[in-house]
Amino acid sequence: MNTTTLTDSQRQQLRAQLEQRKEQLLQELDAIQRDTLGVAEAAGRGDAEPAGSSRDQANSMAAGMVRDAEAARDHAELVAVRAALERIAAGSYGECTDCGQSVGVPRLLAQPAAARCIACQSKAEAQGHR
Ligand SMILES: [Zn+2]
Repeated sequence: MNTTTLTDSQRQQLRAQLEQRKEQLLQELDAIQRDTLGVAEAAGRGDAEPAGSSRDQANSMAAGMVRDAEAARDHAELVAVRAALERIAAGSYGECTDCGQSVGVPRLLAQPAAARCIACQSKAEAQGHR
């Protein structure tokens, strides 16, 4: 098996996965946003945790922080997924964005949004950004 070049069907399969992931992330981000905006209202509508006590407020603040972290992670992934789809459209998908070498088919199959080969990814992570 050739592990450096994607076949057309592999590329199509990965593109479908990326499109699907993009939709999922958009929905998640949308839900998180609605959730954040709707917390005050929801408390009055009775479809959320009963509001009023200080313990509930602390819980909802903690939940808000979790949501923020989720939103940030989803957003970062969405950016990576969109960039991968752009690389597919541009025909550069599967090439490391840093060194231009093949990212490697097994790596792409495991992580369709991977932008860098393992060597460059390790380097980037060592420098503190992904
Ligand atoms: Zn590289």
